[in-house]
Amino acid sequence: MRATRAIIHLGNLTRNLQAIRGFIRPGVQICAAVKADAYGHGAVACSRRLLRDGVNVLAVATVGEGVELREAGISAPILLLSLCAPDEAAQAVSHDITPLVFDEDYIRLFSEAAGTLGKDAYPVHIAVDSGMGRIGVLPEDAGHIARAIAASGTLAIGGTCTHFALSDGTSRKAEAYTQLQYRRFLTAVENIRNEGLDPGLRHCCASAASLTHADMQLDMVRPGIILYGYYADEVDREYLASAGTPLDLTPVMTFESEVSAIRHFTKGMSVGYGRTWIAAEDTDIAVIPVGYGDGLLRRWGSCGLQLAIGGKPYPVRGRICMDQCMVELGPDSPVRRWDKAVIFGSPADGAAQDADAIARTTGTISYEITSCITRRVPRIYIE
Ligand SMILES: *Cc1c(COP(=O)(O)O)cnc(C)c1O
Repeated sequence: MRATRAIIHLGNLTRNLQAIRGFIRPGVQICAAVKADAYGHGAVACSRRLLRDGVNVLAVATVGEGVELREAGISAPILLLSLCAPDEAAQAVSHDITPLVFDEDYIRLFSEAAGTLGKDAYPVHIAVDSGMGRIGVLPEDAGHIARAIAASGTLAIGGTCTHFALSDGTSRKAEAYTQLQYRRFLTAVENIRNEGLDPGLRHCCASAASLTHADMQLDMVRPGIILYGYYADEVDREYLASAGTPLDLTPVMTFESEVSAIRHFTKGMSVGYGRTWIAAEDTDIAVIPVGYGDGLLRRWGSCGLQLAIGGKPYPVRGRICMDQCMVELGPDSPVRRWDKAVIFGSPADGAAQDADAIARTTGTISYEITSCITRRVPRIYIE
């Protein structure tokens, strides 16, 4: 087993889901976002656990991600959140993957695929652009698209959805925009009903709005990042705490490695490519077999990244390489060869920081940190 690995605590996934359920109204379905390999946590294992725990629907971004779940024997409804290439439509339909559609081209593609495969009333969800500015039909054209689906002969409206642009939906300015998007979405739903058609499952809330806008949950919510133990935005944590309904989330992933060597450096010796760090005094340097080829991004090296060994943080020195990085232990450190070195995760695993802390110091979001752990890092599933 490689020293560098991602420990996936399925028990924390269960606990996060249970905690989130406290915010979801009775009768509202849960569609868990497991796209991008469950944000790097492993889509098959996480999907199985979430379905065991009562999640109703899974959401992926590519047809390949959906096929992977089907090939693992998962039979739950799968929603495709992003647009596929034309030649993937038949594969999506043959695997019972429910696409989002919003224009005539995609309606034709899926209706042809459903016809060829002998499917009747194949469900699709209408994507509405209520202000995200990504995919979707404008609310005023939603009725027209609903009619085209109904007229296709092979497709049926399984749902109608939209996506909010702001995850810190609780600041005043963001709140106004979220409310505007919600009203525009309801207008789209009304326009579909005015055609005498049923909009199906209405859903608009991802993690942030699921927690902070219970009144917008409608028929289904689509949480992602909160399942894996992080808030969509720190503002949401503060909002819930001040509203007297705090939510405790625990990171599901711990990204760890170990000290593969300890080297004594005398004053003037340099570390790594570009010689960007030179020992000002005699010191000890630990070599850790993790680098940007694993998802420990090279630019984090210049952001003051620290790794925890024995629960204590030690600074990365020099540039992060593809497969290795070096941390300074200083003189007389208690660290020994083959000690565990934790990059991020849960304090219970000895992590000094979580993915949010790294995200803050490196100018990104936790989503990107966990999704970018690469395939060569084994995922170890434990409770
Ligand atoms: C990724 C995604 C989600 C989940 O987002 P989180 O912020 O992780 O909860 C929900 N809906 C759509 C359309 C998405 O693309």
